[in-house]
Amino acid sequence: LVNTFSAYGKAVEVRWAGAMEAAKYGALAVLVRSMTGSLDDYPHTGSMGYDSSGRKIPAFALSTVASELLSKTLESDPTSSVMLESDCRMLPDADSYNVIGELRGRSPERGILLAGGHLDSWDLGEGAHDDGAGCVQAIEAVRLFKLCQYRPMHTIRAVMFMNEENGLRGGKAYAEAAEKEQYPHRYAIESDRGGFVPQGFSFDVRSASEMAVFQGMRPYFSPYHSDYFFIGGGGSDIAPLKNTGTICIGLVPDAQRYFVHHHAATDVLESVDPRELSMGAAAMAAMLYLIDQTP
Ligand SMILES: [Zn+2]
Repeated sequence: LVNTFSAYGKAVEVRWAGAMEAAKYGALAVLVRSMTGSLDDYPHTGSMGYDSSGRKIPAFALSTVASELLSKTLESDPTSSVMLESDCRMLPDADSYNVIGELRGRSPERGILLAGGHLDSWDLGEGAHDDGAGCVQAIEAVRLFKLCQYRPMHTIRAVMFMNEENGLRGGKAYAEAAEKEQYPHRYAIESDRGGFVPQGFSFDVRSASEMAVFQGMRPYFSPYHSDYFFIGGGGSDIAPLKNTGTICIGLVPDAQRYFVHHHAATDVLESVDPRELSMGAAAMAAMLYLIDQTP
């Protein structure tokens, strides 16, 4: 599979550390070319950081078309200048909450199976793919069980995490609370790669024998072409649960178009195909069902 997340992962360092690196050389500000495979007029935002030196220069997201224009302009006239204006600032912390719903299991001592996504998003768009899709799919997986009148053995919990984009505080707080719960979180599935047609799952397993159990489930997903199973990360919101022994799983959809909308003004409901979104929810529900059925 073409993995656009791999390219993003290697390029995003420029956005994250660009301002602090440029400041060392006396830069007044940085302009960051948007991390997208598309040539368009939409700037893509995202998290960035400063070091402890106290030098905090502003950082601006620039669309790919604007970046090309800037490069060409500077080539033909190196004395060109850019005027920048920003009213961005950090506001004080405010309370916010994870939102949780659950279907209680018949044998709750077997533990909790979690399905989740994150509620927060960047404010250029609506966060429909990142990560409204994941939240809706987690709710939909639980709704499908209710619709089929399936009473799971495990307790199945849909969790919409808060504050993924700006520090992961919802995921961290959830994991802290989970440690104090009566029953352990056995497995957690996150959908945070867009509401596109599912292609498989990424398993954050500790051993080959754990992976073999999941490999045995592949035939159920083959008819839907969502049987691409590999060892990898589960998702950022559920990652803190790993400390409590939870096995984390990521829903892996077709990522070709994800970074076209990621953190940009086009990440709106109209960019999500309802059928593809539903297929992802069905894949998530199927995985939860198979785990619930596995002794
Ligand atoms: Zn996300």
